[in-house]
Amino acid sequence: MAHAAKPDNVLSIEDNNYKLVQFHFHTPSEHQFNGEHYEMELHLVHQIRKGACCGRIMIKEGAENETLMPVWNKFPKEETDSNIPVENLINVQELLPEDADSFHYNGSLTTPPCSEQVKWMIYEKPISMSSEQIKQFQNIWRKSPSGPAS
Ligand SMILES: [Zn+2]
Repeated sequence: MAHAAKPDNVLSIEDNNYKLVQFHFHTPSEHQFNGEHYEMELHLVHQIRKGACCGRIMIKEGAENETLMPVWNKFPKEETDSNIPVENLINVQELLPEDADSFHYNGSLTTPPCSEQVKWMIYEKPISMSSEQIKQFQNIWRKSPSGPAS
């Protein structure tokens, strides 16, 4: 999970401003498109006082994702509870698909602290990561007994 370094990352939906709190990844994707999972899924968790919004972006294998390299370069070899500082900031805007078409629905996350009202926003188009990047992530994640947090 990566925590947002600055509090001014804001997403506006229907006159509500959601602050980006953290982002994290799932593998394989939680959502299916036409019955198929993607290799990974990126979640951008935004929060307002009485709720949250989770932006979901599917990730397919393809070109290397340069935007993520500051994080991927710091990837630990084993699962760790330590915080690993990343020197170069990531511009989350650059992570979004060029075609930002998305659909929204209201739901709730199964895992605290996101058990309140949650708005989900799912981008229709995937972004890409290289097979190396995906493997790097899966190597650690598949060993983790605790599994992913929502
Ligand atoms: Zn999640």
